[in-house]
Amino acid sequence: MSQLLESKIPSRIYQDFVFTKTKIVVNTLATEARCYVCSKGLEDGHSVTAKNTTFGKLLFCDKHYFAN
Ligand SMILES: [Zn+2]
Repeated sequence: MSQLLESKIPSRIYQDFVFTKTKIVVNTLATEARCYVCSKGLEDGHSVTAKNTTFGKLLFCDKHYFAN
């Protein structure tokens, strides 16, 4: 694909775009956010919040967030 950037005579500037057709594979890992204690999640009507603990970052529901 070429694009005409400037058309003043006598100079003409063209820019070429090259689109590569290489497929880029992105590996992602998604897990459902669930409470570390009771395994309840958003579909159970609980909010899930991450909290820094001595075991690392853990997820807690609204019941267990303040209890831990
Ligand atoms: Zn919980």
